[in-house]
Amino acid sequence: MKTLALIAHDGKKADMVAFATFNREKLSGYRLIATATTGKLLVEKVGLEVERLLSGPYGGDAQIAARVAQGEVHGVFFFVDPLDKHPHDPDIQTLLRVCNVHNVPLATNVATADLIISTEAL
Ligand code: PGA
Repeated sequence: MKTLALIAHDGKKADMVAFATFNREKLSGYRLIATATTGKLLVEKVGLEVERLLSGPYGGDAQIAARVAQGEVHGVFFFVDPLDKHPHDPDIQTLLRVCNVHNVPLATNVATADLIISTEAL
């Protein structure tokens, strides 16, 4: 089973819940990992099974980056909020960077995630 990582900044969490609710069936065909708060919402509001890592500001993005670098993640849906400041910006940049280093599909907004999930290419 392939692994997908799901992360949403606070300003994009409602979008993530809506996206995951709409695509619940497809997402349940993957092993899902997520940062803590995003994962909690996916479990409690969408009913998905999700491995929860640390919250983003406490190193969750860095944990996901490490898994991407180790070849354990096949796609990353990271809904970033470009209108907010993030104390963990270095970790965010690391995650984006390792996805690009390892050529792992990366969606940073809902429109791209919709395209990727609808192609069922992952
Ligand atoms: P969270 O972390 O899901 O724990 O809120 C996401 C982030 O801020 O990178």
